Amino acid sequence: MTRKEKTRVVLDLLRERIPRPETELEYRDPFELLVAVMLSAQCTDVRVNIVTPDLLKRFPTPQVMAEAEPDEILEYIRSISYPNSKAKALAVTSRMLVEEFGGEVPGTHAELMRLRGVGRKTANVMMAVAFDEPAIAVDTHVFRVANRIGIVKDAKTPHAVELGLHRVIPKEEWGEAHHLLILHGRYTCTARSPACSSCPVTEHCGYFAALQKLPKPIKGLDPKRGKYYSKASGRYFDKPITKADRNGVEQIAEPGSGSMNVFLAKTGETTKKVKDYRV
Ligand code: SF4
Repeated sequence: MTRKEKTRVVLDLLRERIPRPETELEYRDPFELLVAVMLSAQCTDVRVNIVTPDLLKRFPTPQVMAEAEPDEILEYIRSISYPNSKAKALAVTSRMLVEEFGGEVPGTHAELMRLRGVGRKTANVMMAVAFDEPAIAVDTHVFRVANRIGIVKDAKTPHAVELGLHRVIPKEEWGEAHHLLILHGRYTCTARSPACSSCPVTEHCGYFAALQKLPKPIKGLDPKRGKYYSKASGRYFDKPITKADRNGVEQIAEPGSGSMNVFLAKTGETTKKVKDYRV
């Protein structure tokens, strides 16, 4: 199966699981969406949706927000991550909207990228969601999910993931695919504990396949003899070293032999980790 074919199958399976692949941010017009997306960096949509009603009631348009000092905006967004820099960005961006774009949110990627606090990801969300133009915004969820499943091959940056997704997803599906991957990452393929047992794409997932190849737990180890157990030497030890495996993943290893076939004496589980993808 080619990567394109695999992606088609994966997206079809996600479509069955996720009936409404759309943003969870609440908004009524492009300005409200821009504010919400700017606030959502490193913050949950749930938290953003809590603060935007009062914020946008006080500053309903770019013109009104442009008159505000960052400190006035800050009062409404204190519970959001990085409130100081986001308050400044909203104030500056509102002034730019009024002074350079006639009080409207511009509808091109290049113009959006000129706004303070608007990077490639935010501009892509605006293009796809507000203006219905083909774009894939790569956030932490899309980055992780696309790499884990293997829709993209070991892409190291969000931009590389975006370009990889462009190659395997038909342009007319970019906006929808972006939401499918985000929602899959948010609710199923989470960063810390992906719910592989209830995931619809298990049999197509490279990360899951790698997990299955990890050594099985060893029964009957004695934690009184040491924190770790090396299967290669049959020895217990307390102070491990770390070594990068051939995928560049730092693994716990036995000092001396350097073996990475190490187990936790308390649980019998392997200490080996599968390559993961976080941004
Ligand atoms: S099988 Fe697991 S790792 Fe793979 S996509 Fe599903 S939840 Fe994520």
